[in-house]
Amino acid sequence: MKNRSIALDGPAGAGKSTIAKEIAKLKNLIYIDTGAMYRAVTLKILNAGISLENTDAINDILCDIGIDLDENDIYLDKKCVTNEIRTPEINNTVSQVAKIAQVREKMVQLQRQIADNKDVIMDGRDIGTFVLINANYKFYLTASIKERAHRRFLELSEKGFDMTLDQVEKDIAARDKNDSEREISPLRKAEDAIEIDSTNKPIQEVIKEILSYLK
Ligand code: C5P
Repeated sequence: MKNRSIALDGPAGAGKSTIAKEIAKLKNLIYIDTGAMYRAVTLKILNAGISLENTDAINDILCDIGIDLDENDIYLDKKCVTNEIRTPEINNTVSQVAKIAQVREKMVQLQRQIADNKDVIMDGRDIGTFVLINANYKFYLTASIKERAHRRFLELSEKGFDMTLDQVEKDIAARDKNDSEREISPLRKAEDAIEIDSTNKPIQEVIKEILSYLK
C-alpha cells in the first residue's frame, strides 16, 4: 500500500507543530518537525564557534552530524537538545543557517530518508513545494504577525526568557523575511496547498478544519 503524507508549511508561530502533533496522533502518522532539524544544525555550528561563511568547516559539520527525532524530542549526536534549540539565540540565527545550500541539501536528504516508507506529517517551509512535492495533502498555515508574535512571546516567557512582545514581533518578522526571500526553496504556498488562516481561531478549530479535508 502507498504511504500517506501530509505537508504543512507556513511562517513562524503559525501553530504548525502543535497542530501537526495532534493530527499525527489522531491519524496514526509519524510527525517530522523539519524546523527542529535546522535548529539542531544551528546549535552545532554555534557550539563549534564556526563562521557561517566558512564553507569547509560547515561541510565538516554536516559530514558527521547525527540528527534523530522521536515523537517528542530531537537528538543531536545522540544528545537530547529539545529545549536547547528553542532559545532566542537560535531563533535569531537559524534562518541564516537555513539559507546555506549544503545545509539545505543535507537536511532534505535526511528528511526524505526519515519519511521513506512511512506515513508522515511533516511541517516546515518547503515541504509542499520541494521536500514532499507529491504529498497527498498540502496545507499552508498562516496567522497575523501580531497573533504569531503573541504566541511566541507566551512560549518564551513561560520558559523564563526576558523579552518584550515588540522584540519578539521584530524577530519573527525578520525571520519571515529571510525565509521568504532566500534563493533556495523560499517559504511560499505550494500552488496545490490549502491555505488556512488561524488568526483568532482556537487550535481545535484549525485541527477540525484540516481533518475535514482528509479522507
Ligand atoms: O519551524 P521553525 O520555526 O522551528 O523553523 C526554524 C527555521 O528553520 C525557519 O525560520 C527556517 O529558517 C528554517 N526552516 C527551513 N525549512 C524548513 C523548516 C525550517 O528553512 N523546512
